Amino acid sequence: MLRNFVTLFVLLMLAAPAQAAVKVVATLPWIGNLAREVGWDKVIVTTLVKPSQDPHTVEAKPSMIIAGRKADIFMYNGLDLEIGYLPLILESAKNPAIMPGTSGNFDCSKFVRVIEKHTHADRSMGDLHHLGNPHYHYSASNIVNVAEGISGALAAKDPANAAFYRNNYKNFASRVAAHEKKWRSANLAGKRYIAHHKMFEYMALDYDFFIVAYIEPKPGIPPSAAYLESLIELMNIIKPDGILVTGLSGQKEAEFLSQKTGVKVKTLPADTGAMPGTDDWISFMDTVINKLKQ
Ligand SMILES: [Zn+2]
Repeated sequence: MLRNFVTLFVLLMLAAPAQAAVKVVATLPWIGNLAREVGWDKVIVTTLVKPSQDPHTVEAKPSMIIAGRKADIFMYNGLDLEIGYLPLILESAKNPAIMPGTSGNFDCSKFVRVIEKHTHADRSMGDLHHLGNPHYHYSASNIVNVAEGISGALAAKDPANAAFYRNNYKNFASRVAAHEKKWRSANLAGKRYIAHHKMFEYMALDYDFFIVAYIEPKPGIPPSAAYLESLIELMNIIKPDGILVTGLSGQKEAEFLSQKTGVKVKTLPADTGAMPGTDDWISFMDTVINKLKQ
């Protein structure tokens, strides 16, 4: 009898489930990618926004709320980039684990040196990004800091695997550092570009190039015909090295400007997975830099 009990106990111990994977919900593709990079097989990642979607105009869907309800950690870009759907998801998911102020509410921008913070917020003036430029996912130094933050957040939820997450973060950071050498040697310093949206400012700082004018007169505001005419005049004088757009918006205007001035359009991926060969953050950045230097 005793032996049967012991056998049963041993069998139960063997069958005991391993620590359940941490359920991560990420708004944007690059955030989901970083969570996988740091969490590997210890996380289950659900990404809400597709690489083909413009992150500025995403709307909440029931499936996003269901994902939020089950999440252990909700990771997002922050700086109001998700203002159109994040508050609704958090409110409707009714999941105390991911509410603001808890360890399951992970704002990636808290780990970023934010640029273009405005002293007075006024969205009515047309500025989508009054809390600062939210497009820091093109910046290696900031991305590495976010990955470190993610390793801490996963460790807080799953302390038994803290060393595993830390190790994966360090591994990622050293691979990024190796690639950064290559990216820095792409000789982008001093180049001057026109851009559709204020998307590439972090990268311009990192690699010492300039965005000299924008197709949007203000972030989120489309150009008038008169504005485009003034841009053509400017471009004919300064002869920029390219017109930068993502595959998401501004291509029509960029092509128009290109026809009028002969300046080439460079279409960069807006996020990981937006173009072939950009499935993780490092290959995404490889593609961005290659397209810039072409
Ligand atoms: Zn934007």
